[in-house]
Amino acid sequence: MGCSYWRSKKNSVEGRAKTLSILTGEYYQTLVNETFDSLLKELIEHKDELDFITLRKAEEFRNEYDKIAKIPVELYTEYTAIQAKASVAWEEAKEKSDFSLFAPHLEKLVDYNKKFIEFRGFHKHPYNTLLGDYEKDLTTDELDEFFSELKHTIVPLVAKINESNVMINNDFTKVSYAIEKQEAVNKDLLKVIGFDMDSGIMAKSVHPFTTNFNRHDVRITTRYFEHNPLSAIYSTIHEGGHGIYEQNIGEELDFSTLGTGTSMGIHESQSRFFENIIGRSYPFMEYFYPILQNAFPENLKDISLYDFYLATNKSEQSLIRIEADELTYSLHIMIRYEIEKLLLENKVLVKDLPALWNKKYEEYMGLVPENDAQGVLQDVHWSEGLFGYFPSYA
Ligand SMILES: [Zn+2]
Repeated sequence: MGCSYWRSKKNSVEGRAKTLSILTGEYYQTLVNETFDSLLKELIEHKDELDFITLRKAEEFRNEYDKIAKIPVELYTEYTAIQAKASVAWEEAKEKSDFSLFAPHLEKLVDYNKKFIEFRGFHKHPYNTLLGDYEKDLTTDELDEFFSELKHTIVPLVAKINESNVMINNDFTKVSYAIEKQEAVNKDLLKVIGFDMDSGIMAKSVHPFTTNFNRHDVRITTRYFEHNPLSAIYSTIHEGGHGIYEQNIGEELDFSTLGTGTSMGIHESQSRFFENIIGRSYPFMEYFYPILQNAFPENLKDISLYDFYLATNKSEQSLIRIEADELTYSLHIMIRYEIEKLLLENKVLVKDLPALWNKKYEEYMGLVPENDAQGVLQDVHWSEGLFGYFPSYA
C-alpha cells in the first residue's frame, strides 16, 4: 500500500520540488523546536497520569521528533526536492527502459540516506535505522534469518515446480475480458469482501494503491488489463484488505497520528490475508466464480469451478513483483532486501544495480529480465527514497 504514485507532468517538476521543499521546511520547524520538545518531555515525565492513547500519541511524536531533529533542516528539505525530481526521472527512465536516466537521481537518494543514517546513528547495521522507520525495531539479523529460510525452502521448491510435469491450464485467463465488465465485477467484489462504499471509493491508476484521509475516507485504486482479469481481481482484494483495515480503526483515534495502520508489516498482513488466504481459497471461489462466469460466459461457460480455482493458485515464476503469485512473491522481496543491504554496506554502486538485479533474478527465479523496465526500474519505491520499506511486504 501507500506508494503515493501519480503521473506527473515533466515541466511541473521544478515548481513542485520547490513547493515541497518549502512545505517540508515548515513541517520541520513546526515539529522541531524547543517549545514542542519541552511539552513532549513534560508529557512523558507525567506518563503515569496520562491515558493510554495520549501517551501513545506523545511517544509517536517523540519518535518522529528524535528521528528528524538530528538531521540538519537544509539536508531534510533538499531531500524532498531530490525525491520529487527522482520520481519524474524514474517515470521517464521506465518508459524508455533506460536506467542511465534515473541512476544520477538514485545515487543522490542513496547518498542522502547514508548521511541521514550518520546523523541519526544506528545499532549494529546502518540498514537497521531505515528498516525501523517502517517496522519498529526490525533488524537485519532477523531478516537475514527469515530470508535465509525462504532461500533454502522456496528456491528449490520453485525449481521443482518448474521441472514438474503437472500442467495447470490457465489459458482461459489470458483471453479478452472487456474492461468495462471487469470494472463492474470488481466494484461488486470490493463490497462483498466488506469494504464500506459509504466510507471510501475505488478508482483506476497505473499502479494500485490505498490512501486514507480518515476512516470514513479511504481511497483505493486498481488497474485493469484486458487479457488478465486476475490482475485486477487480486489487486482489488489486496487493496481492499488495506482499505478495510483502515475503515475499522477505532473512532477514538480519529484525526490523530495514531489514526492509521500500526505498522507497514501489520498493514501488509491484512491485505495479503484477504488476497491469499481468503481470495485464493475454494470456499471464496464457490461464491465468486459463478458471478465472474455469469459476467463472462463467452470465456468461462465451459470452465469448471475447480479448474478456475487451480488457475488462481498456479505458481509461475515472473519478473514482475506485483504480478507475482503467492509462492514466489517473497523471493521478489528478498532480492530487493539483499540489494538495499549491499547498497548501505557500500558493497555495490548504483551504476551496477541493473547487472546485480538480473543476476539475482537468474539465480533465484531462473529468469533474466529483457530490459531494465522489467528489471531494476519496475518499482516506484526507490524513486521516492523509500529504502527499508520492501521487507515489510514479506
Ligand atoms: Zn499492500
